Amino acid sequence: MADILFNKIAFIGIGLIGSSLARVIRRDGLADTIVACARTEQTRKTALELDLADHVTADVGEAVTDADLVVICTPIGAYGAIAEAMSASLKPGAIICDVGSVKRAVIDAVTPHIPEGVHFVPCHPIAGTENSGPESGFDTLFEDRWMIITPVAGSNEEAIEKVADLWCRTGSKIERMDPDHHDQVLAITSHVPHLIAYTIVGTATDLEDRLKSEVVKFAASGFRDFTRIAASDPVMWRDIFLNNKDAVLEMLGRLSEDLSGLQRAIRDGDGDGLEALFARTREIRRSVIEAGQHIPPKPPGDDIND
Ligand code: NAP
Repeated sequence: MADILFNKIAFIGIGLIGSSLARVIRRDGLADTIVACARTEQTRKTALELDLADHVTADVGEAVTDADLVVICTPIGAYGAIAEAMSASLKPGAIICDVGSVKRAVIDAVTPHIPEGVHFVPCHPIAGTENSGPESGFDTLFEDRWMIITPVAGSNEEAIEKVADLWCRTGSKIERMDPDHHDQVLAITSHVPHLIAYTIVGTATDLEDRLKSEVVKFAASGFRDFTRIAASDPVMWRDIFLNNKDAVLEMLGRLSEDLSGLQRAIRDGDGDGLEALFARTREIRRSVIEAGQHIPPKPPGDDIND
C-alpha cells in the first residue's frame, strides 16, 4: 500500500544520489508526482526512460512550482545559483533539503535565498559510489548507512521530522549534527582519504612509462582500492575541497605531521614505533567492522570483488 509522504517532490539534479532516492520514492509510492530538473537533454531523457520522474525540465523555477519537497542533488558549487533561481517559485510551507557532502558552505549559500515560510533542512547521506549519473543509482544505496541532518538556528522541527521520515524509508540511520562539526568529521573520514587517493594515483601516473605499466599490471589491493576512490566525480570533489577548505587544511596539517613522524620512524629503524601504530590502526578497523560500516554499497548484481 502506497504511503504518500509528499504530494509533489522536485529533484534538482538526478544523478547517483538523486536517482537512488527517487528509486526508493517510486518503489514505495512515497510521492504522487516526481519532477526532475537536469541541465542536459541526455540526463532528462534517461530520467524519463528509467521512470525516475513523471516530468523533466531544465528550468529550476518550473521544477519547484507547487512542490512540497525539493531535494537539491547537484555538485555543491551550483547550490547558491540554484537556490536563487528557485526562490520566487517556492510555495509557502515547502521544504527544501539537499544531499551535499559539505554543510556550512551549503547553508551559507542556500539560506539567504529561502523565503519566509519555506523550510530548509540540510542533509548529507553518508553513502555513495564512484559512479555518476541517473543510471548508476540503486534503491538499496542508503540501506544501513548514516544520514546526517545539520539543522540551523530556527530550523522547523516538523520539517526536520518529515525529511527524517523520508530518509528512514530508504533504510538510513538518522543522526543530527552541528554543521561545522559535520565538516570536520567528514574532512578526516572522507575528504582527506579521497585527496590521498587522488595523490597516490596521480603520483603513479607521473612515473616513467615502464614503471607505470607495471603499476597497473600488478595493482595489488592497496593501489586498486585507491584507483576506485580516485575514479570519483572530478567536479563533485573539486567543489567539496573548495567548500570545506578550513577543515580539510587543518586535517591535512595533522596528517603531514604524522607522515613526517612515520618517515623518521622508518629512517631510524624504529620497528617498535611502527608496530605500535599499526596495532592501533588495526583496532580502528575492528571498530569499523563492528559498526557494520566496512562493506561499500554496491548495486544489486555487481559482483566485482573489491
Ligand atoms: P551526479 O551523479 O554527477 O549527478 C549530478 C546531477 O546534478 C546531474 O543530474 C546533473 O545534471 C546535475 N548538475 C550538475 N551540475 C549542475 C549545475 N551546475 N546546475 C544544475 N544541475 C547540475 O552527482 P551525485 O554523485 O549524485 O552527487 C550529487 C550531490 O551528492 C553532490 O552535492 C555530492 O556532494 C553529494 N553526495 C555524493 C555522494 C557520492 O558518493 N557520489 C555521496 C554523498 C553525497 P546533468 O547530468 O544534466 O549535468
